[in-house]
Amino acid sequence: MKAIICGAGISGLSAAAFLDRAGWDVVVVEQADGPRPQGYMIDFFGPGWQAANALGIVHRIRELGYRVERLEYVDSRGNARATLSLAKLSRIAKGEFVSILRPDLELAIREALPHRVDLRYGRTVVAVGQGRASVTATLDDNAVLEADLLIGADGIHSVVRELVFGPEEEFFHYLGFQVGAYSFRDWDVAAQIGDRFAVTDTRNEAMFFYRLRDGRITAMAVHRSDDAALPEDQQAMLRSRYRNLGWICPAALRQCPKDFYYDQVAQIRMERWHTNRVVLLGDAAAAVSLLAGQGASLGMAAAFVLADELMTGADLRQALDTFETRIRPSVSASQEAGVSAAQWFVPATRYAALMRRTMIRLEGIPGMERLISSALIGKSGAAL
Ligand SMILES: Cc1cc2nc3c(=O)[nH]c(=O)nc-3n(C[C@H](O)[C@H](O)[C@H](O)COP(=O)(O)OP(=O)(O)OC[C@H]3O[C@@H](n4cnc5c(N)ncnc54)[C@H](O)[C@@H]3O)c2cc1C
Repeated sequence: MKAIICGAGISGLSAAAFLDRAGWDVVVVEQADGPRPQGYMIDFFGPGWQAANALGIVHRIRELGYRVERLEYVDSRGNARATLSLAKLSRIAKGEFVSILRPDLELAIREALPHRVDLRYGRTVVAVGQGRASVTATLDDNAVLEADLLIGADGIHSVVRELVFGPEEEFFHYLGFQVGAYSFRDWDVAAQIGDRFAVTDTRNEAMFFYRLRDGRITAMAVHRSDDAALPEDQQAMLRSRYRNLGWICPAALRQCPKDFYYDQVAQIRMERWHTNRVVLLGDAAAAVSLLAGQGASLGMAAAFVLADELMTGADLRQALDTFETRIRPSVSASQEAGVSAAQWFVPATRYAALMRRTMIRLEGIPGMERLISSALIGKSGAAL
C-alpha cells in the first residue's frame, strides 16, 4: 500500500512514521525548503503522549523539551502578581507534560523516520485526481504521484482541503485573536526572565516569554482583534500595539524580525475529514487553536489512530470512518475548551483578569487545581 502525505509538520511526520511501520510506502511532500526553523513553545501533553510512546520518542522529547516549574503573570516591572505551578499541572498529567519548541518536536519525530521514507522538501500538491482504485497528486514540478491514500497534513491553511473539500472560508472559524511568535538573543532580557514562563498580566494583548537553553528567548504576542484581516506590516503593528506593556516588552519588540510567524487564531471545523481516497489530518482537518493547547498532541494521536485503523485490513472507507469516530470526541472537547479558554488566555476585562489572578491564588484549595488545569489544558481527550 502506498500513501502520499502533504505536509511534514507534526501530524504528517507522525503519520509517515506510523504508516512506514505498518509496511506502507510513504512519500511526504513539504512546501518548505527544509525543516522549518521558525517556532514557538508548545505544551505537549494529552493523547499525543501515547503516540510518542508508540514511536519510542518520549525520551527524546524530554531531552529536547523543558520542564518548566512555574508560570508567572507579571506586572509592568516584571514582578509576579500570580504564580501558577506547572509542576503541579505536570503531576496531574502524571508527569506526561513537557514544554518543547515546535521545530524540536518535529525533529524528534523526523529522527524516528527511516531513510526509506521519501521526504521531498520544496514541493507542493497542485492537483488531486481520485479514481476507484487509486488517487493521484500532481506536484508543482509536474511529477504525478499515484497512491492508495492521500493524506492532507498541510496545516490550517491546507491546500489539499481547498482542492478536495472546498474553500477555506467554509471551515475556518476565526476566534477573535491574532498571534505572532519569534525568538531573539538578549542577555539582559534573558536575565530578567529567569527560569520561569513569564506572561504579562495585561488585558486585550499579552506577551509570553521563555528563556531557552542556548540563551535565546522565545516570545509570543497574542492580542484580540475583531478584524480578522492580517495587517500588512506585521512587525510595525506588533511594535505599536504592544508598546505600552512595560518591562522587557519594548526591548523584545525592538528585536522582532521582519519575517516571523504571524497568523489568525482559528479553528477548522468539518463534518467529515475524508472523501474517497483523501483524508485530512491534524490542523488541516480540525485545528483546535493555541487557546486549546492540544493541537500538536491531537495531531500525533490522530496519526496513530489512522495508521491503527489502516492496519486492520478493513476496506479503506470503513477504516477512515472508524478513524474519525475514534478521534472526533477528543477534537470536539478540545475545540470547546479552546473557545472557553479565551478569557483565561487574554482577558478582555478587568474583572476577567482579576478572576484569573484569584483562581491562581486559590490554587491550594481542593478541587481548584483541577478547575485551573481544565481551564488551561482542557479535558484531556479519551482519544486512543
Ligand atoms: C503560537 C502557537 C502556540 C501553540 N501552542 C500549542 C501548545 O502549547 N500545545 C499544542 O499541542 N499545540 C499548540 N499549538 C498548535 C500546534 O502548533 C498545531 O496544532 C500543530 O503544529 C499542528 O500540526 P500539523 O502538522 O497538523 O500542522 P502544521 O504544524 O501547520 O504543519 C503543516 C506542515 O505542512 C506544510 N505545508 C503547508 N502547506 C503546504 C502545501 N501547500 N504543500 C506542502 N506542504 C505544506 C507546512 O510547511 C508544515 O510543515 C500552537 C500553535 C500556535 C500557532
